[in-house]
Amino acid sequence: MVALVSAFRPDSCVVAEVRASPNHGERRLGAKPDMIVLHYTGMADTEAALAKLCAAGSEVSTHYVVMEDGYIVQCVPEARRAWHAGAAAWQGEADINSCSIGIEIANPGHSYGYPDFPKRQIAAVTTLCRSIFTRHRIPGWRVLGHSDVAPARKQDPGEKFPWRVLHDAGIGLWVKPAPISPSGTIFTLGQNDAAIAEMQARLGEYGYDIAASGDFDRATRDVVMAFQRHFRPARVDGAADPSTIVTLKALVAARAAQAG
Ligand SMILES: [Zn+2]
Repeated sequence: MVALVSAFRPDSCVVAEVRASPNHGERRLGAKPDMIVLHYTGMADTEAALAKLCAAGSEVSTHYVVMEDGYIVQCVPEARRAWHAGAAAWQGEADINSCSIGIEIANPGHSYGYPDFPKRQIAAVTTLCRSIFTRHRIPGWRVLGHSDVAPARKQDPGEKFPWRVLHDAGIGLWVKPAPISPSGTIFTLGQNDAAIAEMQARLGEYGYDIAASGDFDRATRDVVMAFQRHFRPARVDGAADPSTIVTLKALVAARAAQAG
């Protein structure tokens, strides 16, 4: 059966093409988006990825797709709830799709060689985010990666995504990562320590879905890796080294300063 999907007017003039996806619903309780979640498509063929996001029955979608050459396609109107985040959580909120706008960035991802993001593609992501900011109030610390809100399942957009470049363009919160040093205590899987509980509390304060148990369990390792992919990409190993912990402290302080 062919589902008819009517085209819609794009939300922004930066959209080059509308390719309407049937996969969307109402935002819960009429929520207004106050978060952007960035993804990579994670498929070898970008056209196939776009086709899947628009296929009836695939149960996935996104508001926007940014192609490698910067061409921007809109699949779901911003007013609607697109199905991009799946099981996810941030700052105690589990219905991430209701509060967010999803942007899929064409990149085959870790399973297919994970190439660098072309500059013109990043320029288009920047332009798109700025355009979204003119319509919705989205704090810098709520511009996130899929891996931030689903650390056990997702790696995208990954450690090659240039968060610093976006930050320099006024998008997202980011602090210069503390240098990696060979000295200092490193906490890893299986350990228990008050310092681990302190780090978990700080990660949870920032928004990650984590309990301050003091146990360095698998869930903690996944969250530390997600943090590193976004904020300390030089080494993504899931181990809590001093550079990771110092960078996290600086990030929480930077948000407190911005939030006033
Ligand atoms: Zn994703």
